[in-house]
Amino acid sequence: MADKLHVDILTVEGRRFKGDADFVVAPGSEGELGVLPHHIPLLTSLAPGAVKVRNEGEEQFFFVSGGFLEIRPDQVTVLADAAERAEDIDEARAEEARRSAESLLQQKVSDADQVAATAALARAEARLRLAELRRRRRT
Ligand code: ATP
Repeated sequence: MADKLHVDILTVEGRRFKGDADFVVAPGSEGELGVLPHHIPLLTSLAPGAVKVRNEGEEQFFFVSGGFLEIRPDQVTVLADAAERAEDIDEARAEEARRSAESLLQQKVSDADQVAATAALARAEARLRLAELRRRRRT
């Protein structure tokens, strides 16, 4: 049997995925990371974006809002602030979150509110991109 990666996607709300993979792609904060079995150990933070888990030709996509990624030669662990399967993304909610963040950013708000709105905008845009990608792949 070919070597596999054991993948866990965890949030404070619970486990979102556990399973094997041949290849994982994750949105590292310094760029997208592709992980194959026997990858060197690595710990990095995550940006809002998509985690792709490929196993035997089947691909599953998850939104992650940020957090940490731990890579070991046979294990990938995602510790996310929030995560959901691409098919569970509520696009109307993400649109509303985007509108509300954009509207806050157009107002005079405190630095802290600006940072929060910028982060909320990044989450909303990443959710919308992944939902769109999923739609295109289904047609
Ligand atoms: P919102 O302002 O809509 O709450 P948010 O970016 O602040 O968005 P998060 O903090 O990333 O939300 O996530 C909080 C919880 O809500 C998590 O359980 C996350 O999976 C879920 N969630 C947030 N937005 C969506 C969405 N558009 N579709 C599905 N689940 C979502």
